[in-house]
Amino acid sequence: MIGLDQFFLDTPREGFLDITKKISEIVRHGSIKDGICQVFVPHTTAGVTVNENADPDVIADMLAALNQMVPKLPFRHREGNSPAHVKSSLVGCSLTLPVANHALVLGTWQSIYLCEFDGPRRRQVYVQVVGG
Ligand code: ZN
Repeated sequence: MIGLDQFFLDTPREGFLDITKKISEIVRHGSIKDGICQVFVPHTTAGVTVNENADPDVIADMLAALNQMVPKLPFRHREGNSPAHVKSSLVGCSLTLPVANHALVLGTWQSIYLCEFDGPRRRQVYVQVVGG
């Protein structure tokens, strides 16, 4: 069986938004009890990742590190947001997470983050649970 859901969110600026609760709700109310959950963002200047939810400084540090990793090159892309495109590919646009008994399997300190590298924007998140 396959269930596909989606939701939208508006990002205020560059940053990481915790979307764990929204995805957990979809998994909890879906028809699939055990399997895998694929999270996919159909964007080229955003991404999705799992990281620490306890100390918000971790997210600030990750953003600072990504900004440092992407050099200020004489980019050719005329839209002017090439660094956001590069960071999107570094982070990736999808995740696969285990589902057990209608719940995401995550570590105590793990949350799922939509990574906005080019906001403010309206972003879409697909959540597809596959299993039985
Ligand atoms: Zn662009």
